[in-house]
Amino acid sequence: MILPNDFVFTQANLQDYVDCPYRFYLRYVLRTRWPALVVDQALDFEQRGQAGGRFHRLVQQYLLGVSAERIEVLAEEDPWPELRAWWAGFLTHVPPWLVGQRWVEMPLTATLVGQRLLAKYDLLLVEEQGNLTIFDWKTSEKPLSKARLLERIQTRLYRLVVLQASPMLLNHQSAAPEQISMHYWYATHPQTPIYLIYSQADFDRDREYLAHLVETVANAEVEDFLRTADLARCRFCVYRSHCERGVEAGSLEEFDRLELELDDPDRLIDFDDLPEIEF
Ligand code: SF4
Repeated sequence: MILPNDFVFTQANLQDYVDCPYRFYLRYVLRTRWPALVVDQALDFEQRGQAGGRFHRLVQQYLLGVSAERIEVLAEEDPWPELRAWWAGFLTHVPPWLVGQRWVEMPLTATLVGQRLLAKYDLLLVEEQGNLTIFDWKTSEKPLSKARLLERIQTRLYRLVVLQASPMLLNHQSAAPEQISMHYWYATHPQTPIYLIYSQADFDRDREYLAHLVETVANAEVEDFLRTADLARCRFCVYRSHCERGVEAGSLEEFDRLELELDDPDRLIDFDDLPEIEF
């Protein structure tokens, strides 16, 4: 076991482990920084990611009470032209769904097989009847299918953590899995959010999967962090020259075609480094 005792598992580090155990080792154990481009159109790719981060920030400010008119001005001034359409789509479709108590950018923790899990929610909505809805904003070009979303670590982790943390949100009452749903809202497809309803069977399946996964990672020794056999992943990995798996990055088109996702703004942007928006 080489991870520190206080290591916290998140969707980002678990997804890294699932994609490539060696990438997890480089990033979270050795903390290796390797300055390679993720895709060959780096500027375009980075700008898209950064625009996604700014969009999350605008939605966060709106949900915390800043007026839509003020946000509109910021969206209009944004250097990424699509952001205006994302904001317009959000404002038209999302607010009517938000009936209940809002928890914005809410971090929750849970414990599983003795390991700490952390999930940070774009928005958690607590309805009067005790239903809990997780909203996650996405700015990727193409929505993932429901089947792909159900397999994602984010979906599995976020629903499990909110279920375990539900007494904190529901006056010490535990939610039933059926009271929890996760809504992925894609800014590029604003009218058609993807709803994932939770169930006891989902919870049992995800709990078993995540328990096995975090135990495996927590107990791994150096030699267990193997390089992925899926070379397509290496083309979009910053460590590919370190691993001698090619020098050239994959293309943005291929990144989209393979349905890879890198729109977690926390991975791309340190919010503490962003200037505060003045109102
Ligand atoms: S280049 Fe490939 S093998 Fe190396 S860390 Fe990245 S995904 Fe893993």
